Amino acid sequence: MNRILIAEDEPRIASFIANGLNRNGFVVTVVADGDSAYQYARTGAFDLMVLDLGLPIIDGLAVLRLLRAEKIDLPVVVLTARDSVADTVTGLESGADDYIRKPFGFDELLARVRLRLRAPGHDPEPTMLRVGDMTLDLRTRRISIEGQAPEVELTAREFALAGVFFRHVDQVLTREQLLSRVWGLDFDPGSNVVEVYVRYLRKKLGTSRIETLRGMGYRLHSLPRTAAED
Ligand code: CA
Repeated sequence: MNRILIAEDEPRIASFIANGLNRNGFVVTVVADGDSAYQYARTGAFDLMVLDLGLPIIDGLAVLRLLRAEKIDLPVVVLTARDSVADTVTGLESGADDYIRKPFGFDELLARVRLRLRAPGHDPEPTMLRVGDMTLDLRTRRISIEGQAPEVELTAREFALAGVFFRHVDQVLTREQLLSRVWGLDFDPGSNVVEVYVRYLRKKLGTSRIETLRGMGYRLHSLPRTAAED
């Protein structure tokens, strides 16, 4: 599973990209200005960034130059509304790996993203994540639990949520972090969608594995706890 950072200030386009990538099994985070794009891109938490050039605070080209100056080699696919060959050339010279002109179809973006993730120089992603007696298979989207058959089937959203928990085992994840990483939302929609999906996962994995920390968030435990602690 790959984590994609989307830097796009146009909410309609951002959610179009985020939803599409999400449906294709990517974990997405959306930011709407160049400063956030720069800060997030430096964390090392992403496998690729989709970067709009026309961003507030710091424009996309400047973000790209800052990252490359720091030798951060995160693959970057640039989105440009500027119908100019010169901008495209500048973008590629500034360190973009690829670019797409707006307006674009989702399939075109997906193809570029997949191509750049497969490009040489980037480590192949792991196919299995292991936590305690559970193994999440990133290809089949199933979790196997030792001594328990059959394997647990996950929906796309449950799989994305499980992926975030498995990568941050024993850490507290806030509701906001989960909304951002699993749903691509950087605002609180005021719904209980996180609670609902945590409940779904608990139902499938056993209630004792994911702990609720009131007012703080959730934590996946590497070792099963005594049941009904929540
Ligand atoms: Ca823009």
